[in-house]
Amino acid sequence: MSYGSVVILLGAPGAGKGTQASLLAKACGCDHVSTGDLLREAVRNQTSLGMRSKAIMDAGQLVPDELVLELVADKLRSGKENTGIILDGFPRTTAQAEFLDKVLGTVATMTIQIAIDESEVVRRLSGRRTCGDCGEIYNVHSSPPSGANCNVCGGKDLIQRPDDREEVIRRRLEVYEEQTAPLVEYYSSRPGFHEVDGSADVDEVARAVREIVGSLEKQETGS
Ligand code: AMP
Repeated sequence: MSYGSVVILLGAPGAGKGTQASLLAKACGCDHVSTGDLLREAVRNQTSLGMRSKAIMDAGQLVPDELVLELVADKLRSGKENTGIILDGFPRTTAQAEFLDKVLGTVATMTIQIAIDESEVVRRLSGRRTCGDCGEIYNVHSSPPSGANCNVCGGKDLIQRPDDREEVIRRRLEVYEEQTAPLVEYYSSRPGFHEVDGSADVDEVARAVREIVGSLEKQETGS
């Protein structure tokens, strides 16, 4: 991607936005901006933003727009030039989408909706475990570690995120339906909107995403 182009990954919690954003970022050398990761980092560092966000996140609710917008504005300002950006988990409300429109102005933007069923979301998220030492992500159903410890660093603590407990997952899905799903309509009438089937395996979804993003690059270079 050339300078300033932006890919927005939309989809319910557990659709695979984080995994796909990270694969795409590696493939195209872009910046991966995940508001969930930025917020979790703020919680770990016990910043005032982190302290205000922790209980909200643990309950599966959305952090208020003004806090998230501040975080994203900082991140976009500090981004490297000549680099595309992949947004994962942002925007999540109409107010956030409107903010993004203002900040980006005429910058080429593409939106990819990763579609997935609710039952699959619950299965994926309730099985997700993260290595407490290196952050490697596993799933006890589909991609467990080969032994009791982390495959990458040998870490012993494979942790379940507080918001991946089943009762919180249900709440996150309700919040998604109420506040984030309307963004599909917000973006779907625009030329850069695409949808992929998020229930396919990771490599297949990644291929579909790369093909879509490749078509944006061709349009930009005129090839
Ligand atoms: P994620 O890792 O994207 O699933 O995000 C984890 C949690 O962080 C969400 O359930 C929200 O509490 C919070 N969060 C992440 N991104 C946003 C956002 N754009 N707006 C509000 N809250 C967010």
